Amino acid sequence: MSSRHRPARRLATLAALLPLVVLLPSAPALAGGGRVIGATKIVDHGPGSARYTVVVIAEGFREVEQASFAARASEYATHLRTTAPFSAWWQTFNVWRIDVASNESGADDPVECGGTGLVVDTYFDARFCAGGIRRALVVNQSTARAVLDAHVPEWDMALVIVNTTVYGGTGGGIATTSLAGSWKDIAIHEFGHSGFGLADEYEYWAGCGADPPGSRDHHPAWEPSAPNVTIQTDPALVKWRALFHPAVPIPTTENPDCALCDLRPNPYPGEVRVGLYEGADYYHCDAYRPAHTCMMRAFGAFCPVCRNRIEQTLKVFARPLLDPIAAPLRAGTSVTLAGSGFGAGSVVNLWVSTATGAVSHGPYVPTAVSPTTLTWDLPAVDLAQGYASVRVVNTDAGYLASEVRGALLVGDAAAGVPTILAINGTPLAPPEASVGLAHADTVVAGGGGVVLVGTGFADALVNVFTPEGNLGPLTPAPGHTDTHVGITIPASAPAGPGTFQVVNRRATPGGTTYANSNAVAAVLVAVPTITGVAVAGATITVRGTGFSRASVINLFNRQGSGVVNLGGLSGGVPRVPLAFVSDTEFTFARPAGAVAGPAFVEVLNPPFIPFSSSGSDPDGAVTLP
Ligand SMILES: [Zn+2]
Repeated sequence: MSSRHRPARRLATLAALLPLVVLLPSAPALAGGGRVIGATKIVDHGPGSARYTVVVIAEGFREVEQASFAARASEYATHLRTTAPFSAWWQTFNVWRIDVASNESGADDPVECGGTGLVVDTYFDARFCAGGIRRALVVNQSTARAVLDAHVPEWDMALVIVNTTVYGGTGGGIATTSLAGSWKDIAIHEFGHSGFGLADEYEYWAGCGADPPGSRDHHPAWEPSAPNVTIQTDPALVKWRALFHPAVPIPTTENPDCALCDLRPNPYPGEVRVGLYEGADYYHCDAYRPAHTCMMRAFGAFCPVCRNRIEQTLKVFARPLLDPIAAPLRAGTSVTLAGSGFGAGSVVNLWVSTATGAVSHGPYVPTAVSPTTLTWDLPAVDLAQGYASVRVVNTDAGYLASEVRGALLVGDAAAGVPTILAINGTPLAPPEASVGLAHADTVVAGGGGVVLVGTGFADALVNVFTPEGNLGPLTPAPGHTDTHVGITIPASAPAGPGTFQVVNRRATPGGTTYANSNAVAAVLVAVPTITGVAVAGATITVRGTGFSRASVINLFNRQGSGVVNLGGLSGGVPRVPLAFVSDTEFTFARPAGAVAGPAFVEVLNPPFIPFSSSGSDPDGAVTLP
């Protein structure tokens, strides 16, 4: 057979699919015979809330045929995984199988469509011959939808596999396919319709030469909504103009005889050049498709326009998810993160909060990656100086980023890097990404002694950073060890947040170098408390303990039936500026947005949790005039 005829044969194969998009079961549903056995997740790339969920449902399989259905479902998943563009976005997919046992095998095949007359008792009442076309294989959509909603409510696309080798299938809300030879490609084509809103790019209804004369000659003068067919011929207005190949005319091909399909071969043999090819959306003329061929025209690769639509749809499901990081990250070791949606292009970003600000590290390329785990080498030195925030970015899938997770970072003592693990016997609090700084929930009195416990303390000095500057470097008391240092906090230490850091001095041939520990915050002098709030004209005075130049307030104000916070931070800046008088008093001006009536003041000291005044202390209440 000459190559000239090959496209026609593929088109004829697809003819069976064409009416299926628009047909619904016309007969009332028969009571389905059988039972739903249950749902099984066969491809797991994370929570259903975050992933594109495909469900494969058994129809016309008896109890004893369920293993056969399970094998077909796995074949379908494998076919998706190996078909572009789904292959590149595989980590966005979850696939479920719903095992349903029917009383009998197969599907009804009415004689009026040339079928065998077979009538079988199946759960979803599958039947050929919908709308008088034998290959239109349909199931009871409402029963299928009810089973889906009950077992996999997050489903995005569903395919019913009907246990018969008679050729057939349909698109629509819930797609169907039989097990005829090309069923997996039929299923992918139907996925294009039901999953991504793609139109058929072929140019006939029943088939080339099979439609009534004149019925398919000219597309009506309305623009189809699908992204891959158009009636527009102005190159400046065609919806896929951004993807045009620079060296094709627009239109690229025009059908010389609108009474027939245009079956001429690709003018660019072996190439996919996006342009404007006449013959699409069931019409010979006046409708155009983006490429000479496509999965939506004949079985084969999706054209770039269809691929683009698929990728835009899947992109929102491609975000990597990072599980909370429970164990400390140990510098100089190989670290494994757990989550989902990881892929070959995943990288790790790391920020380390030091006593003087955040330092960015990475991106790190993993040494090993699976969809749910990612391993990378954390450097031993020049890194372990603080509290880490970790994020995974998929550089090959739209640069989508995971949430940021906090982690405690432990230095490598063997490399001379110190790490603080406790202050005055209080260990570091678990990581919280919203705090962004390691902290120990303890109060350190001014003029008192402090013991830091950790690892890798060598020839150590201690810094204590406050809103009014560094109290250090402080020299440890005699008798310090690799794991304990004691220092005395000056009596002049200001109230508020204090951030501790151990610095090892190392003599080198070129002089002295320093290795910093993690930065660990604690409360100096006193936790904020409020003892009273007074109003004098437009000035509000707050008295209490533990106030600092770094303090910020929340100011809750009853407004109508709700409560509005006039304080807090906006863009990192306090919304209500405070005038610091002493660690027991500050004032602020009545904000412009305040209304007369009940209000409540709460004092926050960085890193805010838990170094703040009580949110329910009655002493914070005030009535604004
Ligand atoms: Zn296409």
